[in-house]
Amino acid sequence: MGTHNQVAVIGGGLTGKASAVAAARAGFSTLHVAPDVAPDRRTTALMGPSVDYMIETGLIGDPASLGTPLTRIRIIDATERFLRGPEVAFAASEFGYATFGWNFPNIALGESFARAGAAFESLAHKATTLVSAHRREDVWHLALGDGSVATVDLLIGADGKNSGVRKAAGIQVRERKFDQAALVCDLQLGRGLDGESVEFHYANGPFTLVPAGRTRANLVWIDRLETLEQARRDPEIFKAALNEKSSHLFGEIEPVTPSFVFPLSTLSVSVAGRDGAVLVGEAAHAFPPIGAQGLNLGLRDVAGLDACLRAANPGAYGWADTVARRYGADRSPDLMRTGSFVDGLFGTLISPHLPAQVLRGAGLWGLKTFPGLRRRAVEFGLGR
Ligand SMILES: Cc1cc2nc3c(=O)[nH]c(=O)nc-3n(C[C@H](O)[C@H](O)[C@H](O)COP(=O)(O)OP(=O)(O)OC[C@H]3O[C@@H](n4cnc5c(N)ncnc54)[C@H](O)[C@@H]3O)c2cc1C
Repeated sequence: MGTHNQVAVIGGGLTGKASAVAAARAGFSTLHVAPDVAPDRRTTALMGPSVDYMIETGLIGDPASLGTPLTRIRIIDATERFLRGPEVAFAASEFGYATFGWNFPNIALGESFARAGAAFESLAHKATTLVSAHRREDVWHLALGDGSVATVDLLIGADGKNSGVRKAAGIQVRERKFDQAALVCDLQLGRGLDGESVEFHYANGPFTLVPAGRTRANLVWIDRLETLEQARRDPEIFKAALNEKSSHLFGEIEPVTPSFVFPLSTLSVSVAGRDGAVLVGEAAHAFPPIGAQGLNLGLRDVAGLDACLRAANPGAYGWADTVARRYGADRSPDLMRTGSFVDGLFGTLISPHLPAQVLRGAGLWGLKTFPGLRRRAVEFGLGR
């Protein structure tokens, strides 16, 4: 005979931690099932609305104590294609913002979210995995990796791309894997970025330097997996690639941490909530890390879930179904819009075909030239 909670959140990534806090803050008895895993050494660029949500809900305090402000974005077409786009730059001040957002170490965010969760007595944590989940008579029956069992009304899947909650809820998924992967590491630059995120576009994907304070930067290099693996094996090749791909604009570049490689895919679901189960973050959507959209969309999921939980009446029959159905309907337009935008952008970036290149070049010219288009692109990128 296990415990019963109103809500269980599966997964201890950033969306899992944030969802557990949202459920506990909304007054629900919450079980957070999150195994201990290796620290996530990536950093994440989070835009203004995500940062505002984190501050409003107590997930973080002053962003300046955790991250580095992003005040400018520059896109440089470094392809050797016949049709190349112009260099395009955006300054936050041009649109009336102090910053576009902040670049945070994921470890610092995770620790801050965990501190926020520790304030709620209604939030219990189990450092184990979900082994199986079955729904009978409106209640989810969970079997956990530590041998215990539990029942819950509402099951929240924040368990990443291979989500077990998604499978248990019978939610259909579409995934497309790419030949490209993303390499990340921290860099020491000869000259600092001064708040500017610089994205060099190459035929196999972008090479992006994100400011991490003073002369530090975080690298996100998307390329073919074999190219990245070769660079990782040979420090000389790696260093030469860093300097060449950044067009020698930032002086001598040195990696200062080990690098990690992430395989890339796009993933979308038929619906993000039904039958007393909801999916947040990469359980519901994944795409290549361009335009800093992934966790920003994941935090919009959490904000959407937060609103549904606050509007719920846990005394009413079938309340968990109502929350899941409403969440699924509410999140659908944003998931479709953002997913197709990133998919389309990545497609035109890596496509060798002329029409896609024309489209991309014209897009960059448009972004350079038309103030209205620039503002719309910025607002879209911020997720407003
Ligand atoms: C290289 C790279 C750079 C990125 N940069 C940005 C960026 O700048 N801005 C941005 O917005 N996004 C960015 N993203 C996207 C962002 O990292 C993801 O959207 C985010 O990490 C997803 O978080 P999540 O909590 O949904 O999933 P995950 O971080 O994958 O967490 C899932 C968790 O579920 C756990 N789990 C799995 N199965 C079980 C189980 N059975 N039981 C219990 N727990 C389970 C796992 O252990 C894991 O901890 C980037 C992604 C990559 C790859």
